[in-house]
Amino acid sequence: MTTLITGGTGYIGSHIVYSLTKRGDKIVVVDNLSKSKKITLDKIKELTKKNIIFYKVDISDRDELEKVFQENDIKNVIHLAGFKSVSESIIKPAYYMKNNYEGSINLLKVMKKYNVFELIFSSSATVYGEPFELPITERHPRNPVNPYGLSKSKVEDYMYNLSKDNEDWKLISLRYFNPLGANLQKFSGDFSFEEHENIMPRLLKAYLNVSEYFEIYGNDYDTKDGSGIRDYIHIEDLVNGHICALNFLKQTRGYETFNLGTGKGYSVFELITCFEKITNKKLSIRISPRRSGDVAKSYASSEKAKKHLSWQPKKSLENMIQSAITFALQNENFK
Ligand code: NAD
Repeated sequence: MTTLITGGTGYIGSHIVYSLTKRGDKIVVVDNLSKSKKITLDKIKELTKKNIIFYKVDISDRDELEKVFQENDIKNVIHLAGFKSVSESIIKPAYYMKNNYEGSINLLKVMKKYNVFELIFSSSATVYGEPFELPITERHPRNPVNPYGLSKSKVEDYMYNLSKDNEDWKLISLRYFNPLGANLQKFSGDFSFEEHENIMPRLLKAYLNVSEYFEIYGNDYDTKDGSGIRDYIHIEDLVNGHICALNFLKQTRGYETFNLGTGKGYSVFELITCFEKITNKKLSIRISPRRSGDVAKSYASSEKAKKHLSWQPKKSLENMIQSAITFALQNENFK
């Protein structure tokens, strides 16, 4: 029995592939390599000394995706393939809807055809939009304020409807808050530095003098210091959330959603202070206007995941930053 991981060469996917392969699961990876490189899988194979079957396939390509299901005995799917840039989604909303929403629908249709009914979906805290209650529970209404969040929310609706149509489905949406860091094997980190979007690659670039300064988008939010507040979660805790969700699939039916966050909100200024303390280096900072599509405060209640998945985040913000720095210092792309 095999687990198919879509988006398995990306930042989060590769960490999941590593952990599952290491513990002996049979894994097939599908990725179109639009945002990642296959070398990450080669490194994982080297580290685990295990084989990982790889298909360079776009999840929207029905025929190619069907071949993956025909050639492998797939039991369940962890679906991470998708684009994740909020600002790019505002510029290219239809492109995001096609890749993230239509691609996911295509995958679910192929799964049904091949009688595969178990899926864990990478959703996001962005489905909540601007929260009216904190910490955010899974019962908080979804009200995405950008096309990226909308693309995730629409997949969630589709999954919910599927579960009502046919009781064979076992579907889970994991709503990630803000994943950071790398694991000790350092085979993969957040590669989104090309887009200058995620906060850690931007901090690392400023630290390594690849960029002149670190840009803070907005210091006039209604928060304790004016900067945005987010719930950062270590990649290893996030991976464990998927392992717990795989266990939960064995005992559940229908559709479930779970937040994966630590429940602690840190402002951008607090993150910088922690980063500077660890690196013992003062960063150059520039304050820019707020970015469209960003919310002021977002942090999770992860009580539901603790109760039903028996999942507990363990790593601190310092662990996240330190591991990201260790990874960056060894990575050619940051030099
Ligand atoms: P990533 O860009 O590193 O990985 C995504 C992978 O999906 C890449 O390898 C890319 O090549 C692949 N991909 C994209 N579109 C594809 C398609 N149509 N067919 C096949 N492969 C495709 O991003 P990540 O940080 O690892 O994120 C993984 C998932 O988690 C994404 O769906 C993202 O939206 C979601 N998510 C990420 C974050 C975050 O901050 N990193 C937060 C919440 C949710």
